[in-house]
Amino acid sequence: MTQQQNQFMSTPAAEAAPAPVSFVAPRRTLMGPGPSDVHPRVLAAMAQPTIGHLDPAFVGLMDTIKQQLRRVFRTQNELTMPVSGPGSVGMEACFVNILEPGDTIVVCENGVFGGRMKQVAQRCGAKVVAVDDPWGRAIDPAKVDAALTQHPDAKALAFVHAETSTGALSDAATLAEIARKHGVLTIVDAVTSLGGVPLEVDAWQLDAVYSGTQKCLSAPPGLSPVTFSARAVEVAKQRKTPVQSWFMDINLVTGYWSGGAKRAYHHTAPVNALYGLHEALCLVEEEGLENAWARHRRVHEQLVAGLEGLGLKMLVPAAERIPQLNAVMIPDGVSDEAALRSRLLTEFGLEIGAGLGEFAGKVWRIGLMGQSCTEAHVQRCLDALKSVLGR
Ligand SMILES: *Cc1c(COP(=O)(O)O)cnc(C)c1O
Repeated sequence: MTQQQNQFMSTPAAEAAPAPVSFVAPRRTLMGPGPSDVHPRVLAAMAQPTIGHLDPAFVGLMDTIKQQLRRVFRTQNELTMPVSGPGSVGMEACFVNILEPGDTIVVCENGVFGGRMKQVAQRCGAKVVAVDDPWGRAIDPAKVDAALTQHPDAKALAFVHAETSTGALSDAATLAEIARKHGVLTIVDAVTSLGGVPLEVDAWQLDAVYSGTQKCLSAPPGLSPVTFSARAVEVAKQRKTPVQSWFMDINLVTGYWSGGAKRAYHHTAPVNALYGLHEALCLVEEEGLENAWARHRRVHEQLVAGLEGLGLKMLVPAAERIPQLNAVMIPDGVSDEAALRSRLLTEFGLEIGAGLGEFAGKVWRIGLMGQSCTEAHVQRCLDALKSVLGR
């Protein structure tokens, strides 16, 4: 050992620091509320060399991704792009652009994510009118109609299409129709619905819609596809007050995500994450969006039949279920459900989700999202559950 190394090693801080060790991710089967399994093609796409975010090749990729997102959102909306950040950032982006301090908004809450919407709207300085429905049930359109009748000054209606905390699907087309009747915009959480169940942004005339990459699109987390109707863009442009978030101000971000050669620096897009999103969208389009919806429904029915065969009960009534997230009641006699989930993870490499909020400790949430929605996944999950439940 040289003198120099000796001196270096003799400092206490250096002695205390462990040798750096690369992280090796364990192999898992992801059947929770997201992230879902990522296809090797997506991982390989992300391992390509990083290029400059203003490189013409990357600018071309950005344009391609915008076109792909328009197709999966079923929209012609010019403003359609992935926001750099997870689904919650897409949520914030919609609220901060639409709402100004003092505005009134009707927010539906039938689970965790409706509750998060309320908090975001409050932080925008809006007056929030809450429409509460029981957790595990769809949003009741009659209550929404009544709330909008009572609050004619409302600017927007916000709701979650597919509530991942419970597995309940709400009727987005009907809710949007009610909003239009009252002349208000819609802000729609499609984080879990996009790619898993029918979502028709243009046909249903939704206004500000956000999603996420790690649910039914099966890309890693970290990007949030959003789309704004011309009406929503107009509202954001006509604001009296500037959007309180510089980063999420669509009037600034669109200068980066549109305009071809005129593209102006706004922030550095997550280059490799976008390679991944592109490949994930290619997979969705190769299968066909409608085929993907049908697969989610078919595999969900297999899972439900299997769970009921084990004597387990579903939380959500059959007509209100989303196929991609299945909340199942934890059977009586299981005293430590967390221990069972941890056995699933360590003995079977299988991740399922815990219950949230009022369903913590009462349900498990089994995801069938994107690449995690196959018959083989259902079989693996049922076999593992059978084993840990001793059935
Ligand atoms: C996962 C999820 C979110 C939040 O997305 P993050 O990527 O975790 O920020 C929002 N809404 C719904 C319905 C979700 O399932």
